[in-house]
Amino acid sequence: MSNKEENTKAKSDRKRGRLSRKEQKARKKQREESEKQSSDTASNEALNNNFIQRTIPSEEELETTYVPTPIPSFQDMSAKHTKSLGKWFPKAVVLKSSVHYTNAEILKLAKETPPEQLPTASILLFYQYVTEPLWPQSKVDLLMAFLVQIAEHRPNLGGRIRVAREGLNVTLSAIDDQHSTAVETLRHFCRDLKRFDSKVFSQTDFKFIDHVQADRHFKDLKLFPVQELVFYGFPKSKEDQDPAPLEKTGVHLPPADFHKMLEQDSSSTVVIDVRNHYEAALGRFDGQQAEAPTAGAEYIDPKMRKSTDFAKWLNKKETQEKLQDKNVMLFCTGGVRCERASAYLRNTVTNVKGVFQLQGGVEKYLQEFPTGGYFRGKNFVFDKREACGAGDRDGDGGVLGHSNSSTTETKCCLCEKPWDRYLGKKKCSMCGVPVLMCDKCMSSKSKKDDNLLLRCPLCVEEGVTVRAEDVEWTNNGMDSILPDATSNKAAPSVLKWGGGHAAIKKDKRRFQKVQCRFGAECARKDCFFMHPKERIKL
Ligand SMILES: [Zn+2]
Ligand SMILES: [Zn+2]
Ligand SMILES: [Zn+2]
Repeated sequence: MSNKEENTKAKSDRKRGRLSRKEQKARKKQREESEKQSSDTASNEALNNNFIQRTIPSEEELETTYVPTPIPSFQDMSAKHTKSLGKWFPKAVVLKSSVHYTNAEILKLAKETPPEQLPTASILLFYQYVTEPLWPQSKVDLLMAFLVQIAEHRPNLGGRIRVAREGLNVTLSAIDDQHSTAVETLRHFCRDLKRFDSKVFSQTDFKFIDHVQADRHFKDLKLFPVQELVFYGFPKSKEDQDPAPLEKTGVHLPPADFHKMLEQDSSSTVVIDVRNHYEAALGRFDGQQAEAPTAGAEYIDPKMRKSTDFAKWLNKKETQEKLQDKNVMLFCTGGVRCERASAYLRNTVTNVKGVFQLQGGVEKYLQEFPTGGYFRGKNFVFDKREACGAGDRDGDGGVLGHSNSSTTETKCCLCEKPWDRYLGKKKCSMCGVPVLMCDKCMSSKSKKDDNLLLRCPLCVEEGVTVRAEDVEWTNNGMDSILPDATSNKAAPSVLKWGGGHAAIKKDKRRFQKVQCRFGAECARKDCFFMHPKERIKL
């Protein structure tokens, strides 16, 4: 097949993959039902493919199979895309993957296919900051258009990409299909990017996780244009300078050096978890303190609900006293959250001895320390693996019944039985962070009520008793105003995530009975409030 034919074929595959909303819903329901049936009896052991010897193609082989994705030109964009771009940007773009397997589907396939012929998925994780000068907005628009083109050209891609003038943050997956393997597709994606900006992407640390279970592939690819790759909301300095300039980051330590440094005494060294508390709860770097609390670097969890809590925590007097004259080590899942965090720390707290950060995050560390090293528990991830213990390439994702034993002591938020999976998008009623709810509680009818009160461990610890919806949030959920002066305590910050649509619907219902103050002249199409029947078209 010629390149062109291959392109058109791929494009039509993706088109064919598109279903109407109704069809999608019907299929989803069907899938969920069949999943439920199979989850109790089927075991993911059938998919264990660790015994199969698989190889990764060499650079030369990858080069011969590489079919470049054409990069759109600025002229192309202004000529034919203007309209559709206007609709797309700066909004998110969603592209359906040509192939997607649910856990039930792949288990069924495993029964009739020899294991070495089963499709597998691969995962690619990386971030890349563009240091001065930033990409101009026109280049970001071009990159968005290029990413759309890549997804059409390589329809077996899925995942999430955050695109900003300051760079990219990428969680991608690919799946074997009739045109290309997952392994190849992800490498070819990297080649595409290097052609787009060779200077920027030649420095990138691409992390591949190959040959994972096919249901770990995302069913779609989402592109999000954003202002910042990680939103910290750091307070601006008086001179309006960048509060966390990237040239001020800490020293990047490869996993082996980070490991060694964890062995330093707790009187000289601390290790700060810059992830949120609900992630830290599943696993963390505290193995160095297992034998004696003073034996290694002191693990510190700032107990954040979201990244914007970091500055508040760091600016506390106790925190700064704790860090004084210490070597401060930072870590996160893949490394991206440490970049601005370490820069802000060095800019704000001047009396620390040194600032160090784990290059490639826990993800890379666990690749180099397959028995876990000083990391105990599971690494919470943002792809379909959900969370991975040491040496567990596929992670927990997939069916409900499956969970590998964990070494942390997490519990179901209702019945308190040991449980370590965030399933069903359950959220804390007070602050919105994900909460752990066990399979039994989740299927119990009496606990299906939407208004059921769920509290996360932080809200329990801090004695928070006010529901998030009863609090007025300002500053993007970073600050709260209590409706009246009661003795009840509200969460210091609130997280809005997945299932946000339900919350929007709820608000809609609430406000639909209230007259909009702009009446017929209201220009907001999505305005919640009540309007006269005839709205003036603007
Ligand atoms: Zn429970
Ligand atoms: Zn909470
Ligand atoms: Zn209105």
